[in-house]
Amino acid sequence: MMTECDTPGADHTPDFPLLCRYLSERSPQPMVAVDGTTHVVTYFNHAFARLVGREMNDLVGRPFAEAVPEGEANGCLALLDRVFRTGTHEKLADQEHHQTPPRPAYWSYSMWAILGADERPAGVMIQVTDATETSLFRRQGVAMNEALLVSATRQHELAAEAEALRGRLQAAVHARDHFIAVASHELRNPLTALSTGLQLLKVAGADPATAGTARDMMERQLKQMVRLVDDLLDLSRITTGKLELRKERVDLAAVLRDAAEASRPLIDRGGHTLTVALPPDPVWLDADPTRLGQIFLNLLNNAAKYSEPGGHVRLSAGRDGGEVVVRVRDTGIGIPATHLPHVFDIFVQVDSSWQRAQGGLGIGLSLVKEFVGLHGGRVEAHSDGPGTGSEFVVRLPVAVAAAAAGGPTARPETARGSRRRVLVADDNRDAADSLAMLLGYMGHDVRAAYDGEAALAAAAAFRPELVLMDLGMPKMDGYEAARRIRAEPWGGARFLVALTGWGADDDRERTRAAGFDRHLVKPVDPAALTTLIAELPAASP
Ligand code: ADP
Repeated sequence: MMTECDTPGADHTPDFPLLCRYLSERSPQPMVAVDGTTHVVTYFNHAFARLVGREMNDLVGRPFAEAVPEGEANGCLALLDRVFRTGTHEKLADQEHHQTPPRPAYWSYSMWAILGADERPAGVMIQVTDATETSLFRRQGVAMNEALLVSATRQHELAAEAEALRGRLQAAVHARDHFIAVASHELRNPLTALSTGLQLLKVAGADPATAGTARDMMERQLKQMVRLVDDLLDLSRITTGKLELRKERVDLAAVLRDAAEASRPLIDRGGHTLTVALPPDPVWLDADPTRLGQIFLNLLNNAAKYSEPGGHVRLSAGRDGGEVVVRVRDTGIGIPATHLPHVFDIFVQVDSSWQRAQGGLGIGLSLVKEFVGLHGGRVEAHSDGPGTGSEFVVRLPVAVAAAAAGGPTARPETARGSRRRVLVADDNRDAADSLAMLLGYMGHDVRAAYDGEAALAAAAAFRPELVLMDLGMPKMDGYEAARRIRAEPWGGARFLVALTGWGADDDRERTRAAGFDRHLVKPVDPAALTTLIAELPAASP
């Protein structure tokens, strides 16, 4: 060993591998010497052999890239060339290497030129350090910092989201409180008027003019109250996803004429004029006539409500390709541009002072939007600003093959105008008696019962053609009474109508299952009752 070490220094013409060996044989640091031009390995020590997993000497004379295949891609070879060319010392840190078995490994290289006898670089010495531990540690640190940064950013985003949610919640709570206040106010108004009307009827005695005025006023107020409660029920159906359309083929013109007629009281009260321009030919829609009617009645009522007295309201409709476009235009107070995008939002009322004077819950337009959407259409509000009037435009798809369908389903033959046997069953005696009285005045033969058992007994004795039955009753509820009536040999021919405050689809399903023919929601509109009786099948024994 000493002989070899002595040799290089002895004649100052270093034997390249020998010199390397002399300097690094026992170094724990992996080292390899390569030819500067060919990259052929001229020497490597034990530590390098262990690092690359090769036997001693089986690399000498072989290219450096055989021991370190990643050298090409990671720039090690290029660096080697530069060191050889410039004679400077260079480093390449933390290069990933593949190992068998696979595990993360990172090496750092330090390179310097080895001078030959002519004092010019003859090769390059490469010292390799296994930097796996520090590298992994550093990488973990970087990953941890990144994770911290991400989590801080996410935390920031979450805080912003929570803040936005809190804002929305506060707005919703505020809207709800405002709505409850408005709803109580709106319901108390007609109640007050009804109570005053009753007093008036008591004191008016035989004065037919005063009694007539009081009755008209009470009827108007009652309608207003029913409309408010209906809107509230629709709203609850929409929010609970229970609103379903009962579609049939309808002529738009008929629906628009009915809506115009129904809006008359408000139009007249405001001293407005209403013009209606309908297409000459029928426009058939696959629609729920009730909901369709509500859409246009709401828009017409709003046009009347939000117009100074003596305004002009125009309802027009026309075909536009596969759609029909219905416009409700008024010359009223208009809508500020900032409010236009929000008028269809729930509980939104643009001007509360004007609004208070007109009455309303701020849900009409949101119902309009929902109903139009359920019919596959869309609605827009236009206004050039305060004082310039407003226009609401509804677009609905026209029914396909409308002509072939031949219009609405024909109604069954009915016996109109005859005296019918009617049984009214309701545990609220006032409700049962007043309805029985009304039907009596209409010329029908009426009995009243105040619980389910009594209703069953009365039905057996009286054999009514029509039974108007409340559902929640003592002794036997309306469902059971209907089932028992249907089970009787004479029961099949009775026309059974459920009278209830519940009008959701599953409520209707329950009454249908119990044997009822129809499901009416209280309070029953006398006009609807007249139609129903007129359309009863021919009298049965
Ligand atoms: P309501 O009429 O019960 O307040 P709506 O949902 O029907 O509720 O209408 C919401 C708001 O939109 C109204 O309070 C009113 O401010 C505004 N609005 C609706 N229709 C018109 C109209 N034709 N002209 C001016 N403003 C209107």
